[in-house]
Amino acid sequence: MEIQNFKGNGWSARKVAQVYMVSIQSNSNIVETLTDFIKNQNIQAGEVSGIGAVSEATLRFFNFETKNYADKTFQEQMEVTNISGNVSVIEGNPVLHLHITLGRADYTALAGHLLEATIHGAGEFIFYPLNTRVVKIKDQETGINLYDFEK
Ligand code: FE
Repeated sequence: MEIQNFKGNGWSARKVAQVYMVSIQSNSNIVETLTDFIKNQNIQAGEVSGIGAVSEATLRFFNFETKNYADKTFQEQMEVTNISGNVSVIEGNPVLHLHITLGRADYTALAGHLLEATIHGAGEFIFYPLNTRVVKIKDQETGINLYDFEK
């Protein structure tokens, strides 16, 4: 089985067969750093999951009335109890769609679509790339980027 190590802007990774383990440095931005990783490794489809800790996170909630996201930033130390998401290509660029669940100091949870967050502590991810390129197109009716498997 082939094993390779890689390094990039704020991340390091080990590829085992087709699957990657990715570690993000403390004080790095999750979305920015993982986007650097998928671009570096030319990943255009697949799944990601992860855990870790953050010092700040901005979550979004999609409002179907306004067809816009409402954003809210939380500035506190939180456990990342789960990040789950996928990779697709939007307007020619590889894009991550990530959702996050955060554990606060009082053991309650926050959850939502992840706009951005800053790792503070560990950031540990597993990437399962799929050997294809999958495109998302903005759906005019809902305003949401949706898979278009015909493209
Ligand atoms: Fe989302």
